Amino acid sequence: MSQTYLPGATIGVMGGGQLGRMFAMAARPMGYKVHIFTPEEESPAGQFADLTRIADYTNEAAVRRFAEGVDVVTFEFENIPVETAEWCARERDVRPAGSVLHIAQNRLREKNFLAAAGIPVAPFRAVRSAHELSSAIEQIGRPAILKTAAFGYDGKGQQTINSRDDFEEIWSASSEDELILEGLVDFEKEISVIVARGIDGAMATFPACENLHRNHILDITVVPARVHEGVERDAAELACAIAQKLELVGLLAVEMFLKEDGALVVNELAPRPHNSGHWTIEGCVTSQFEQQVRAVCGLPLGLTDIVRPAAMANLLGEVWMSGEPEWRKALTSEGVHLHLYGKTEPRPRRKMGHLTALAPTADEAIARVTQARTDLRPDAK
Ligand code: AMP
Repeated sequence: MSQTYLPGATIGVMGGGQLGRMFAMAARPMGYKVHIFTPEEESPAGQFADLTRIADYTNEAAVRRFAEGVDVVTFEFENIPVETAEWCARERDVRPAGSVLHIAQNRLREKNFLAAAGIPVAPFRAVRSAHELSSAIEQIGRPAILKTAAFGYDGKGQQTINSRDDFEEIWSASSEDELILEGLVDFEKEISVIVARGIDGAMATFPACENLHRNHILDITVVPARVHEGVERDAAELACAIAQKLELVGLLAVEMFLKEDGALVVNELAPRPHNSGHWTIEGCVTSQFEQQVRAVCGLPLGLTDIVRPAAMANLLGEVWMSGEPEWRKALTSEGVHLHLYGKTEPRPRRKMGHLTALAPTADEAIARVTQARTDLRPDAK
């Protein structure tokens, strides 16, 4: 399991989304070949890959044939079935391991793992019936957040429980058999830290990212995070402790809440590059995607110093709703860079691309990226 894969080797990526696309864009200039496995006919990653295998994740023969054709396997999407990772592991090294995927793709397993490791998390209870929901509310109190245990992201399948809610009604409206109830954390900011861990156990953290959400979806990330130095250090330590405990090889994004008293509470893990790390492409000495290549292939990890303060703004499908965006106008803003993910159909809430602005300060970077995104809308004044 400690093999190194040098340039010239072929990296297999499970998943064909934008994270796989930007991974391929980092791996190929370093001399690697990239093969993508995805059920999607037209995938964002496929446009930059040496080869795309289109099949379902549950097709064992196709998965194993794909793994046989590469040197090492990684993924850009954690919600692939665990068996798929196991089939790959019978053929090749899988980094991070399927056991890490297994933990990260279910909120209950993730919270249990974190709590057992002594990592601070919001109070939580498993909910598998209306009765369990009522006793969980009694223990945790209100307001609380009810989330699906499996396959949740970007706030999908979440609801806040208030005082007069009817538990029977909430339970019967849910299509899932396993939910998690979490106490609502009164936070000041949301931050994330991305840590890379190599095959030798060496770790490198990227600077903490400050994340601003809109409708439960990441809207803007700004770096450096506008937090005290002590918070930056504590957040990096937490991320390293989790990566170590997971025996991770690869990248791990750790989303956290920062409370007013400076305490950190871990919300969620993603064992892959993360939306809040896209700014690293222009704003950091090593991008998160290059770092994933290095970690997965057993190369030394790259430096993670900030080049310049940066802000990243997501471009969701809504930006296209009043016509073709004004690309020229947005790009007249100084220090602004455009990334589009090659998706042909803009749908509301769908991540179509992002803008990153570099500037002398974090506040100026936010102002520039926000202005550039507003300028994209043809209806903007
Ligand atoms: P998640 O899908 O768990 O990442 O949640 C999406 C967003 O909902 C987070 O970024 C927070 O803004 C909010 N949220 C989730 N869980 C909690 C919690 N326990 N307390 C407060 N806010 C939360």
